[in-house]
Amino acid sequence: MSEPIIKFDKVVKRFGSVTVLNELDFSVSPGEKVTIIGPSGSGKSTVLRILMTLESINDGVVWVDGEPLWHEERGGKLQAASEKHMHRMREKLGMVFQQFNLFPHMTVRRNLTEAPIRVLKLSKKEARERADRLLEMVGLQDQADKYPHQLSGGQQQRVGIARACAMRPRIMLFDEPTSALDPELVGEVLNVIRNLAEEHDLTMLLVTHEMQFARQISDRVCFFDRGRICEEGPPSELFSEPKEARTKEFLRAVV
Ligand code: ADP
Ligand code: MG
Repeated sequence: MSEPIIKFDKVVKRFGSVTVLNELDFSVSPGEKVTIIGPSGSGKSTVLRILMTLESINDGVVWVDGEPLWHEERGGKLQAASEKHMHRMREKLGMVFQQFNLFPHMTVRRNLTEAPIRVLKLSKKEARERADRLLEMVGLQDQADKYPHQLSGGQQQRVGIARACAMRPRIMLFDEPTSALDPELVGEVLNVIRNLAEEHDLTMLLVTHEMQFARQISDRVCFFDRGRICEEGPPSELFSEPKEARTKEFLRAVV
């Protein structure tokens, strides 16, 4: 097996006196599509937010693409990472949030061109061409000049996915990308994610309650409970023959 592209090594995350991640060990291989399921409050979002450097860690090491995310190796030792190191590492990842998080005062196209111009130093023309290709990919080529509030939730989330793709990350993180949507809009967003999942090289880490979808697109499903992986396996096994009592209980309640 190849080196993992994501590796949590005994990671501890506390909020005050509450331990949210309890010596978490967790790895993802390059190109792998992994779904995290589990009860509310079990630490799923925290895992993604740590990877995006939106939350720090209290102990352990997070590795991304062979380098520590929160540390730098200096003099053979792991030291706290500089801002510069974290910026560089962050470019390897893109994230799609439950609440879309689009820039409300920017057009759809500008939502997609802003970071590539500012961070990747693309020319306006290059960024615009890239944006228009991505809008076509998510079926929104006609909406480029609109503002987010003029779009449906499903359309906004498709913009969110296109915006994350515009930075060409090697790893895409999705945190309940359809949970805020009306039921009739869920399918169009899942279709876009399904198409992305067909990209062999893209590593995907997805938190979702859409069990049917998770079963279709995942190489592996991890059941999180109280900040640890309680059980994991290929979807065919985990969904059909869960071994742990807590997994069984959770699946009975949600499916
Ligand atoms: P999940 O995504 O699985 O529902 P989270 O990772 O969001 O769970 O949260 C795990 C636990 O950490 C919860 O108990 C939550 O209340 C707590 N938590 C998350 N973020 C914060 C924060 N910024 N401050 C304090 N507690 C937090
Ligand atoms: Mg969450």
